[in-house]
Amino acid sequence: MSGRISFFAQVNRNFDKAAAFTGLGRDLLRQIKQCNCVYQVVFPLKRDDGSIEVIRAYRAEHSQHKLPTKGGIRYAPNVNEDEVKALSALMTYKCAVVDVPFGGAKGGIKINPWKYSEAELERVTRRYTVELIRKNFIGPGIDVPAPDFGSGAREMSWIADTYMMMSTGELDAMGCVTGKPVAQGGIRGRTEATGLGVFYGIREACSQPEDMKQIGLDPGMEGKRVVVQGLGNVGYHAARFIQDAGGVLVGFAEYEGAIYSYKGLDLEAVMNHRKETGSILDFPGAKNLPNSSDALELDCDILIPAALENQIHSENAPRIKAKVIAEAANGPVTSDASELLKERGVLVIPDNFLNAGGVIVSYFEWIKNLSHVRFGRMGRRFDQQAYQRLLKGVEQATNHSFSEAEYTELARGADELDLVRSGLEDTMVTAYHSIREIKLQKGEKADLRTAAFVDAITKVALCYQELGIFP
Ligand code: NAD
Repeated sequence: MSGRISFFAQVNRNFDKAAAFTGLGRDLLRQIKQCNCVYQVVFPLKRDDGSIEVIRAYRAEHSQHKLPTKGGIRYAPNVNEDEVKALSALMTYKCAVVDVPFGGAKGGIKINPWKYSEAELERVTRRYTVELIRKNFIGPGIDVPAPDFGSGAREMSWIADTYMMMSTGELDAMGCVTGKPVAQGGIRGRTEATGLGVFYGIREACSQPEDMKQIGLDPGMEGKRVVVQGLGNVGYHAARFIQDAGGVLVGFAEYEGAIYSYKGLDLEAVMNHRKETGSILDFPGAKNLPNSSDALELDCDILIPAALENQIHSENAPRIKAKVIAEAANGPVTSDASELLKERGVLVIPDNFLNAGGVIVSYFEWIKNLSHVRFGRMGRRFDQQAYQRLLKGVEQATNHSFSEAEYTELARGADELDLVRSGLEDTMVTAYHSIREIKLQKGEKADLRTAAFVDAITKVALCYQELGIFP
């Protein structure tokens, strides 16, 4: 049963399946697959009540074939060495699939962040950062963390501040971490980047008429019935963009339970209800499901697991009714379940492509930090003036006058958010077609996950081959 197979072993099973399609040598494949280094640290935390707690934390760097390495930091009670290794490996493959020039890494702090005060979390985060600095596990050219489950912009700003305090005069110090608040070297569009990337990926998959026909769906997002598990950073934003594009959100699962309504649920109304009552349950017009995981088995077109790994396994996979499973979380479908779903013709859009939006926009943030200039600063006004001249020319040639509103809209130069979203959309769309193409070339035996792994392994292998170490 896949539940007993470790997360890293599951990632490696997927790797092995894909490796068989690559024709690469055994030694080279072994080097790519290993997690190169894991740092484990234990330190004391003085709690607000004066008691002392011992905190365990990790940072895994899976592959340094490109530097810096990159990956989020997870704050969760079940963090362990196997998990950070697995997640760091997924980062290596994800970065390769979307052509982001980083190696893979991941960090984890073994605490339940909801049980600690802000001041305690700040002490933990700053201490963790110092421990990373001491062992050379952080730096703009070494290893660049980002948010993940249980962490966000606030934690990233503590990391940046701690790093900068200890690296006086280092010009590029801001690039030591991404996902920072905009006022502290962050980039517009980072918060929603992963969810928006998930949306772009699903939209692209759903716009292929032949693929949709195979699973009995019409192309397009309009009217697709969607269930989302986990309304955190990734799940909430993915759901928001899907709703805006005409998708119907029929079910939500959170840790306290799940709700559904086949007429559709208004996302903002559910979020407000949760804020007021502390739970998504008992939302007016919706039915409660006491077991949160039952939501995974609801009748829908698209299921988006956006919480944690190992949610769909060999036991519940046969009962899944969704025709598309969009892996917004990392590792939500076990390798055994993947096989069962493939046999049943379910289209699984894999995590190592689908949730890459965060690292794509993190890459843009890192570039912004290294170049010390906001995207759009040099060209926006120039473009705007050029468009205005063009519009005037059109007016003269056609005898048609544009309204003030049309003028403003048509002559607008791109600002930072426009450019970030454009770069994100282009990257997701291009990557989807690359892996789809590989899937078609490899035939029946390869699903999209295998195709994404083939793509990633081939690209990482090329880096090692160019070094001249491996044939
Ligand atoms: P988050 O902490 O913002 O949100 C997670 C949500 O899931 C929370 O609302 C939590 O209450 C809910 N949840 C937890 N356990 C649940 C359960 N058993 N059933 C239902 N809901 C549950 O985390 P996030 O940043 O949105 O990350 C979610 C997943 O996406 C993780 O697997 C993470 O590794 C992955 N991911 C995140 C990013 C990012 O940029 N944040 C990028 C790539 C991948």
